[in-house]
Amino acid sequence: MRSLRLSSIAVVWMLPLTVVTPLQADEPAPAAAPHVRPLTADARDLVSTGLARSELIRKMVDHLEASDLVVYVALRWFMADRTGQLTFIGSTGGVRYAMIRIGSGHILSDEIATLGHELRHAVEVADAPAVVDRVSFARHYARIGMDLGRVGVSRQYETTTAVEAGQYVARELAEPLAGSRVGGR
Ligand SMILES: [Zn+2]
Repeated sequence: MRSLRLSSIAVVWMLPLTVVTPLQADEPAPAAAPHVRPLTADARDLVSTGLARSELIRKMVDHLEASDLVVYVALRWFMADRTGQLTFIGSTGGVRYAMIRIGSGHILSDEIATLGHELRHAVEVADAPAVVDRVSFARHYARIGMDLGRVGVSRQYETTTAVEAGQYVARELAEPLAGSRVGGR
């Protein structure tokens, strides 16, 4: 009896299941604000619109510009009822790094207000040179923040100044744009 020789076939499906987020922005960050670095096109649009619409955001970005803190900005979906967060990445070579994540899927004005809120947290870190790692970051917020308890493996804090910054930016956005009136008689 002839044995049927079966060949083993490895089938590899090359499905585009993985979306790789580039670590670097697809375009250079605006030269005016190299300390605030959007990581994606949608984050860049958000920062640009925030700079155009909010004087407080402009002031905070200027403040970060004069500091040793570099802040990356990205948009992401949050599972929980959360609008944004700031995390400390680390420090090296005299430069400190933090990451702002803005919850996506909200209306633009809410996302810009969240950007204002999180930029205020970035200023809180920029003004605290003792924050150099995650331990000193946590210690800083244990001192200046309200403890909101644990979410997963991290402890959450909030500050009144950041809440107020977000509310201030929301009010700025609610004002009509200068020169934006159209039509009329
Ligand atoms: Zn906050």
